[in-house]
Amino acid sequence: MTSPFVTPDLDYDREHLWHPYSSMTQPGNIWPVESASGVRLRLADGRELVDGMSSWWCAVHGYNHPVLNAALTEQAERMSHVMFGGLTHGPAVELGRRLVELSPPGLDKVFIADSGSVSVEVAIKMAIQYQQARGETGRTRLLALERGYHGDTLGAMSLCDPTRGMHHLFSGILPEQFFVPAPQTRFDEEWSDDDIAPLKKMLADNHKSIAALILEPVVQGAGGMRFYHPEYLRQARRLCDEYGVLLIADEIATGFGRSGRLFACEHAGISPDIMCVGKALTGGYMTLAATLATGNVADTISNGEAGCFMHGPTFMGNPLACRVACASLDLLVSNDWQSQVAAIETGLNEGLAPARAIDGVADVRVLGAIGVIELEQPVDMAKLQPECVARGIWVRPFAHNFYVMPPFVMDQEDLAFLTGNMVAALRSTLRSGR
Ligand code: PMP
Repeated sequence: MTSPFVTPDLDYDREHLWHPYSSMTQPGNIWPVESASGVRLRLADGRELVDGMSSWWCAVHGYNHPVLNAALTEQAERMSHVMFGGLTHGPAVELGRRLVELSPPGLDKVFIADSGSVSVEVAIKMAIQYQQARGETGRTRLLALERGYHGDTLGAMSLCDPTRGMHHLFSGILPEQFFVPAPQTRFDEEWSDDDIAPLKKMLADNHKSIAALILEPVVQGAGGMRFYHPEYLRQARRLCDEYGVLLIADEIATGFGRSGRLFACEHAGISPDIMCVGKALTGGYMTLAATLATGNVADTISNGEAGCFMHGPTFMGNPLACRVACASLDLLVSNDWQSQVAAIETGLNEGLAPARAIDGVADVRVLGAIGVIELEQPVDMAKLQPECVARGIWVRPFAHNFYVMPPFVMDQEDLAFLTGNMVAALRSTLRSGR
């Protein structure tokens, strides 16, 4: 066997390894990374790329962080894992304490899960068990927003946008859920009450079948990088209460400061009944997520027919992941994430503005540490991504969106380099595409 530390064997990779959403017969470009530090990825050929992706919203403190490294190695020397059934440990308890303290009021009960998608499955099961325990046995379906994205496992997938997602491939297998059109009023536009009308009508007509409404608060991520008006959330909260429907906030992408608030729900000043977090939870070190619930949800489930909540993954509460998560949350607070994100917001606004003048650009928008250039046509990945790498930046566009969410520790110089080269890469690929 070859040592795993040498430069990866690209031929073996191509032949044997699935990558996310990839084809085994027509693999796309792939770049071998040898190491990463701060906001830079170092490729096997020695080139360095300024990272605009935070490894899909996760690495908020940058890579190879001494504090996170220390937390991980200390914990590995003490105990890497122990089952969570009948046992507990400091890292899990301290993570629970931090999550309860940081999250919107009322979310006091914590279920630690393995990944974002799993935390969504857990939320779905909580909602169903809650309604059953209340005697609402007809409430077996969930309600979701079009243009939403909640993960790749079957339950989570059933809640993703039904036309742009993968529903047709799995029809007959996926649970059938209810959907309402995505909110249309943009984050900074004047609110229009028309925007909430479809949700109002859906709940009035179908609430007896609906256990919960799930949504990504304020930022619809993988479904189009859309920023919608917080008033939608406030009214959704009121409607859920009126109709006995739980509100599940999927803060997996938005949580921990990304949208300019610690949780995007705070833009609307609301608390959900159930909240999913993941991604940035461990500062990008390893997979971990959590589903938080109110005392009412937890007590109702616990007093129901089953007498317990029916979920318990093998690696639940993994001490290594929990310990790194505690260290990452402490760093977030001590680093003054509000100032970091505010500075990135300013830099993104300035740096991406020139893209507005490029032919083929439909919209440029920024919220917190998220910057989006939306194109009129789907991005030509085969051209744009190599162009970005050649210019020394790592950005992975999808559909119509050429977007970044840099690590919070990125300074203005690197941010200007990142945005400047995005604009330049776009100019040259759009031009060469004509
Ligand atoms: N919900 C949202 C809003 C997400 O953005 C994602 C991941 N992109 C998920 C759920 C799924 O998380 P994971 O990939 O960790 O399973």
